Parts: sequence; structure tokens; C-alpha cells
Amino acid sequence: MPQADTKRRAELVPVSPDAKTSDGTSVFLDESELWDRDRIASAQVQSLRAVLKRAAGCGFYRERLAGLDPMDIASPADIARIPFTTKDDLRSQYPLGLLCVPRREIVRMHSSSGTTGNPVAVCHTRGDLGEWAGVMARCLYMVGVRPDDVFQNMSGYGLFTGGLGIHFGAERLGCMTIPAGPGNSRRQIKLLRDFGTTAIHVLPSYALILADHMRELGEDPKSFPLRVAVVGAEPYSEEFRLRLQNLYDMDVFNSYGLSEMSGPGVAFECPWRQGLHVWEDHFLPEIVDVATGEPVPDGEVGELVLTSLRREGMPILRYRTRDLTRFLPGDCPCGRRHRRIDRILGRADDMFIVKGVNIYPMQIERVIMTFPDVGHDYRIVLENDGLGDVLRVQIEMRDAFFEEDMRKLQSLQKTIAQRLRSEILVTPRVELVEGSSLPKTEGKAVRVVDMRRKD
Ligand code: ADP
Ligand code: ZN
Repeated sequence: MPQADTKRRAELVPVSPDAKTSDGTSVFLDESELWDRDRIASAQVQSLRAVLKRAAGCGFYRERLAGLDPMDIASPADIARIPFTTKDDLRSQYPLGLLCVPRREIVRMHSSSGTTGNPVAVCHTRGDLGEWAGVMARCLYMVGVRPDDVFQNMSGYGLFTGGLGIHFGAERLGCMTIPAGPGNSRRQIKLLRDFGTTAIHVLPSYALILADHMRELGEDPKSFPLRVAVVGAEPYSEEFRLRLQNLYDMDVFNSYGLSEMSGPGVAFECPWRQGLHVWEDHFLPEIVDVATGEPVPDGEVGELVLTSLRREGMPILRYRTRDLTRFLPGDCPCGRRHRRIDRILGRADDMFIVKGVNIYPMQIERVIMTFPDVGHDYRIVLENDGLGDVLRVQIEMRDAFFEEDMRKLQSLQKTIAQRLRSEILVTPRVELVEGSSLPKTEGKAVRVVDMRRKD
């Protein structure tokens, strides 16, 4: 029987104290997954008070929080009395200005990958690392990863948190954990085969590249025993997820996190995949209007603001993530009451303006990934041709595509341009290019190249 038929898939079993998956194990890892809204709110108030006391140990926060008594916090909504913290604040306190404990209590430092500027240093106590591994293990357990899984982590180890962050979660669960690191596809494929890897953590852009390498080696991605993939660190569309699931015949779950809130483990999809649960016993999420900082109603897109509720070494209060999403209204069928956010639409900084229209790369990805002839990668190039803005979308096609006739190419070019126009209200110049011909990056994908003169 082909291996694919025997793959264990994520099961839809709602949480309750006795609920079990078919292997006889509990469907939840932590008691807090059973909490109702009242229990979550009271835990948040307690944690918030404790965090405010701890933050007074740091000059930066002491000044910011002057006049605020931790006991003034009576409900989670009282968080609005605390000022926001921005990336610039964190940069201004680099390297150790935000420590709330003596330096000797710090056992590890991580730093953001600097996709959008100078680094931010985030320091952890031993207790912080324990909490982080715990919440990460909870995420993996929720999507069906169990101690008998072989977990291959294809994320960069080092300052980037996707390596060690996921690693210690998988180890905590008891998986045989392989710190494969990024790239080096041949070795990656050999490890997958030799150790029978069943679960992976991978960047969306790399997951497709890896499948190409498998096919080049004459291997079908479906023939590997992979059954679950944790995919995050950069935005991707639902269309992209479906491609990945079909390609490898595995379940794909969205994983969201950021260095400022430790790293991965902040929000994660459950088996229902209707948004990502934010673990509200660890983080207090808000969604605010980017311009005014006022909360937006559930269902409306705004900027995600996060407060770490448990961190000792470097708690961060009301952090403006720049990530755009919305709270999903209603309850999740999984029974967990931790609030859900929609997949990240992009960073506020990713938005670009063409002919006065605000556009996010994800809007473009959503459209082009629905065309079966479209390959894995694309690039958005912004130019000025002297008359005005030009939006070029370069799209890699499947290998077989160019062997067919020119008429098909021109008609597809036109159809994609029309579909994009109806989504973004600007007519792009669509260029269909050969697979693997666009420039690749080692880490997070770079989708937008802005060549317009800025003066
Ligand atoms: P950097 O900001 O330098 O990339 P991080 O490695 O801390 O540093 O990356 C965190 C950011 O990555 C988030 O703020 C978000 O923009 C993006 N990100 C992380 N996970 C996801 C996800 N699942 N979907 C979309 N974007 C994500
Ligand atoms: Zn759920």
C-alpha cells in the first residue's frame, strides 16, 4: 500500500476534559485550553498586575508608567491605560535597556531578523525559556504532533527565533527533533527519507522550492511520510496553503510569532483552521486603528498590538506589531475560547501605493495562485516610466507551460491582468517567466522591489 494512504491526519475532536483523539491521547496539552472567557479575563488581570510590578524594575517603563498603580487594572480593557511600545522604542533601548531583572538572570538573547531595519534584542531568563517551550509544545500538540513524531525543523538556527523556538517546543513534547536548519535541499531530503520525518517546520517559500528539488531527484513529494507541516514566519495566502497540502499530501498549519513576543508560539491554527488562536494566558492581543491607535470592532482589519503577560526578563507592553489582521467574531468549533485572529494580511510597511491605491502583496498572491499554470514564485516590481507609476508582476510558470503555444501564453497574461485589476483596481503589466528564474533569498522571501525614485 502506498505510504500516503496510511498517514495519520489531524482529527476534528473538540476539547473537553475527557476528549481523546483516536490514538487514545488527550486532545489538549494544557488546562488553559479549557478556560472560558471569564477565566481567561481573570488570569489576564492577575498577570497584567504582576507584569506592571515587574516592569517598574526598568527605567524606561518606570518613567512611562509613572502614576499607574497595578491595582488600577480591574479588567483586561484597562490595558488601554498603558502607553504603546513601538519598534523604535525597542531600538532606542538596544541592547539591554529594557531588562527588568539583573543581567545575570538572563540565559539567552535573540534578535529580530531585521527584515525592516535595525535589530531589536530580546533577552530571556531560564523561566522565560521554559514558558516559551511550553506554549510552543501546546501549539504542536494541538495540531496532532505527538512524541512518536520525527520533527525536522527547517528554520534558521541562531538569532532568528524560528530555529530554537520551535526546536525546544518539539523537544518538550518528546519528538525526535532534527535541527536541520534552512536550505541544503539534498541533505534535507536525505534526512526526511532516512529518519522517516513525519512533521516539519518550514518557511512557505522554501516548502515549494524543496518540492521542486524532490522532483528533480525523481522523487514524488507525496511519497514521503510527512503528514503535518507548521508553516509561518511570513505571510501566505489560503490558496498557497492548499497548494502545499496537495503537493505533499500533508496538513499545513499556520504559525504566527515575532521575536518581540519571544518568537513562534504566539498564535496558531487549530485543526479547524478557521483563524489562529492567540494564547491569551500568555499574550494579551488588541487590534487597533493604525492611525489613531483606537480599538477597531471585531471583524475589522487593524494593527495587532500584543502584551507579553508572563515574561520576566523583558516583558513588552502593548507592542505595536505593524502586522495587519482582524479578530474573527464568534466561537471556534474546537471549543477553545482563546480569541482567533485572521491570517496576517501583511505588515503595515508592506503596503505600497500605486496610482493612489493602497495594495498589499497578499492580494496579488491570492489571485495568481488560483491559476494552475502558475508556478511557485512571483515578484512585484514598481517603476516609474516617466508618465507615472508602473506595477509589474513577474510570475514564474510551471515548467511544461512554455512548451505550449504562444496564444495560450498571451491569453493567460491577459486573464491574470484582468483578475488582478478587479482585485487591486490598478492594471498591472503581467510577465510570465520560466520556473526558478526569479531571484531567491535564503531567509524570508522578498516579493516587492520598489525602483521608483523617492524625492
Ligand atoms: P523580522 O520582523 O525582522 O522579520 P521576526 O523574525 O521576529 O523578525 O519576524 C516576525 C514577523 O514575521 C511578524 O511580525 C510578521 O510580520 C511575520 N510573521 C510571522 N509569522 C507569520 C505568519 N504566520 N503569517 C504572516 N506573517 C508572519
Ligand atoms: Zn479552534
